[in-house]
Amino acid sequence: MHPWNQSLWQRFCQQQQQQRLPHALLLSGTAGLGKEYFASAIVANVLCTSFQNASSPCGQFHSCQLLSAGNHPDHIKIMPEETGKQIKIDQIRSLKDKQQLTASVANWKTIIISPADAMNVSASNSLLKLLEEPQQNTLLILITDKPEKLPITIRSRCQSYPFSSPSTEQALEWLATQNINNQNDELEKILQLASGAPIKVLEMLDNDLSDHYQQIERDFDEILSGQANPIALAASWKDFELSEVLHLLHYFLKDRLVELMTTKQKSTKNRHYFKISDCIMSTIKLTSSLNNVNKTLLTEEFIVSVMKISKSLH
Ligand SMILES: [Zn+2]
Repeated sequence: MHPWNQSLWQRFCQQQQQQRLPHALLLSGTAGLGKEYFASAIVANVLCTSFQNASSPCGQFHSCQLLSAGNHPDHIKIMPEETGKQIKIDQIRSLKDKQQLTASVANWKTIIISPADAMNVSASNSLLKLLEEPQQNTLLILITDKPEKLPITIRSRCQSYPFSSPSTEQALEWLATQNINNQNDELEKILQLASGAPIKVLEMLDNDLSDHYQQIERDFDEILSGQANPIALAASWKDFELSEVLHLLHYFLKDRLVELMTTKQKSTKNRHYFKISDCIMSTIKLTSSLNNVNKTLLTEEFIVSVMKISKSLH
């Protein structure tokens, strides 16, 4: 188990040992904290038929072997048919039929829904009915990076497992065990961009995202100098997660502010920078609070507002 998830894991193990497992769990928190891994560890524990008070499954008997072979009849994973698409009502409905069947090999049925915020409205409603009439020995595990996008009616029927980022020290300590060659000060920067999530840092290093960060920084320069074309820029950002771009911009802006303040020159620039910072933060809020928001339009509006503020910079 990842060191920063240890206390949540202890909590789960305790519930299992005391036979107080709830019907539904909601694993929520920033991407890159190991929620998927945590969920699969839960499934392995729950489906093991010879599970004693130990904290890990036996790995030997039929049930454990079926699970590691990836075809356990008592485990279902529901996700969008294509990445980035919605989870549809049929996928949740099919669960109802399967759920009528009692567990066949293990003593439990486990169902993972990930990302749970990808369920469309009718899928959510269908899931709600399931949650309202829980089946015995069925454990539903919902995973999401954006719990605020789930209806409160669903959230309130799940026991919450909130994942949080480790301290910078703990994150760097763990990253040092992951065979990477980056210096700590560089890793600390990337860790900030990853909202403190260590596994996300690994992904970012793997995908060599630095090129795309440099591009976005150049775009930001264009916006601040009033030379950007909002429509073209919004179109070129459409493949990125908007909230990630915004966090990145906020990070670049912070860098500039720090620079500005250390030069001790009297400048009205920082007042404008703070205004731009507010604009970034309120747009981040919008992206997480609104469902079905028109991302392209929001991006264009954002770019136009920042350009307006920065006009007075010249
Ligand atoms: Zn086992």
